Amino acid sequence: MKIKSAEFVMSNSDVAKCPKSRLPEYAFIGRSNVGKSSLINMLTSRKSLAKTSGRPGKTQLINHFLINNNWHLVDLPGYGYARVSKSSKKVFQKFITQYFGLREQLVTAFVLVDIRHKPQPIDLEFMQWLGESGIPFSIIFTKADKLRPQAIEKHVDDYKNILLETWEEVPNYFITSSSKDIGKDDVLGYIDALNEN
Ligand code: GDP
Repeated sequence: MKIKSAEFVMSNSDVAKCPKSRLPEYAFIGRSNVGKSSLINMLTSRKSLAKTSGRPGKTQLINHFLINNNWHLVDLPGYGYARVSKSSKKVFQKFITQYFGLREQLVTAFVLVDIRHKPQPIDLEFMQWLGESGIPFSIIFTKADKLRPQAIEKHVDDYKNILLETWEEVPNYFITSSSKDIGKDDVLGYIDALNEN
């Protein structure tokens, strides 16, 4: 897929106020600092469509972007930021539950995980919750430029093995690096294929 246009539509803290349009929607979510903004900028070939922030955990908003006038890319807030209080964690959970519960336009979620780390409980719990809630998702491994190919394979296998303890199959996954422009065509090609279904 060629990205011909990418426009910011709106930021929202209220799921009910998200765009009413029925365009297919793809949500990107992950731990704060996972590289989500950088990935969105890489995918859309825009330098600062999504704000890469030095203050992780600050943006607790749902950001809608309209791509090629035919699908929405949704930047969801990052989770798991240590300095966020318990009460704001609760607000976050409610908000995310509402988003996934209400957005019928959502085709699939992309859960971003930093390829450098071993499977983290917070990411696994989130994937577990998506799976149990029947929400389709894929995994996007970020920052692949930081590891050698063998280590990448090992870390992906660790994820697969853990997921296979609970699920019969592993979700689709993508290996990406925003710094080295890796994985862009894979992710966009996947979205393209889903949009055509
Ligand atoms: P977000 O909080 O998930 O939106 O993460 P950002 O996109 O703001 O990135 C967090 C940090 O990771 C920044 O310092 C980025 O420069 C760095 N980063 C993001 N993507 C990559 C990548 O593909 N490779 C490397 N080496 N660093 C990255």
